[in-house]
Amino acid sequence: MDALALEIETRRDDLIRLTQDLIRIPTLNPPGRQYLDICEYLAARLASQGWECRLIRAEGAPGDCEEFPRWNLVASHDAGRSGECVHFNSHHDVVEVGHGWTRDPFGGELDAGRIYGRGACDMKGGLASSIIAAEAFVALYPDHPGRIEISATADEESGGFGGVAYLAGHGAFAHVGHVIIPEPLHKDRICLGHRGVWWAEIETHGRIAHGSMPFLGDSAIRHMGAVLDEMERSLFPLLKTKRTEMPVIPEGAKNSTLNINSIHGGEADLGPGFTGLPAPCVADRCRIVIDRRFLIEEDLAEVKREVTAMLEGIRTERPNFSYEIRDMFEVIPSMTDRDAPVVRSTAAAIERVLGREAGYVVSPGTYDQKHIDRIGKLKNCIAYGPGVLDLAHQPDEWVGVQDMLDSARVMALVLDDILRDARG
Ligand SMILES: [Zn+2]
Repeated sequence: MDALALEIETRRDDLIRLTQDLIRIPTLNPPGRQYLDICEYLAARLASQGWECRLIRAEGAPGDCEEFPRWNLVASHDAGRSGECVHFNSHHDVVEVGHGWTRDPFGGELDAGRIYGRGACDMKGGLASSIIAAEAFVALYPDHPGRIEISATADEESGGFGGVAYLAGHGAFAHVGHVIIPEPLHKDRICLGHRGVWWAEIETHGRIAHGSMPFLGDSAIRHMGAVLDEMERSLFPLLKTKRTEMPVIPEGAKNSTLNINSIHGGEADLGPGFTGLPAPCVADRCRIVIDRRFLIEEDLAEVKREVTAMLEGIRTERPNFSYEIRDMFEVIPSMTDRDAPVVRSTAAAIERVLGREAGYVVSPGTYDQKHIDRIGKLKNCIAYGPGVLDLAHQPDEWVGVQDMLDSARVMALVLDDILRDARG
């Protein structure tokens, strides 16, 4: 076993404890709980080993408020020798617990080589692995050239505006050369990027009337029915014909997709405490939110045109049909080149640690790479980390201890490769 591997192996118990401690801080988003606690916990650990730690609040970012401030940590290790900068970025927020758990979601229970809890795989296990990797490397080569950075950032699960987007907008990646985001893509795969996203709200209009005389009004819900019908007839079949050359996983996500995230028409939900009956009315408004995921081969303007052309087609045929469409959120697809330095270095490390060739994938959904690419203007970025993607956001989420150790070894080897003359 080489010296780095040994350094990591001796940290097995430390890695387990670190992961458990992180899980036991319930950084739920929404609303954005205990962000400062997790940043302070990590800062205390890293500062005690000579890392410079900066706590940065994303003031004014969406969601930032006195009750739930958006705190981020950026820690760096720099021995004062010039060289490259390698940055590990993990989000510290986790999604709601949901139902169906048989383990304590914030207990960090260790059982048969797995650590359980909300965020175990997405992505506190990855965060812990990158910390162990960096600490092991620094222990062996305290005078390494260049700079190692570890960030723990807010709000990835809600768009990353109070986290990586804020940091990138304030120049945090200006000096960074390589980024690894330890999202749970599995220890033998490199994730090069993600598909694009367009969210929009479509609203159909009608005229309110008494529900007993619907002919006196005009139902926005029936108009929306026509929209949904047309989607089934023309839009969904069209999306099925579009297929990407990107190595997107799972297989179904190689096609363009569209989900209807929500639908609402008529009077507002009366709430759980209300025991009366709703009033009979013809709905004068109906809204849906569409979530269109698009491919690197597609153009966002064209993606939008497909939907507006469909709506315009309905308008010419359907009496009194009127609608509005509003953009809500958009992300351009991002894909790092396979020849990028961080990709090649990680692929070589995977082969050395696991004895097999690295797989290359693209994520069906987006993650913080979008901000590093667009705002930080840095293409040399991948997602690589332990954990099974399918377990993310599920009940009884877990991360495997051996997977974390293996990917920590890979990450440490990447440091060794990029900050190479550390050995000399
Ligand atoms: Zn994640």
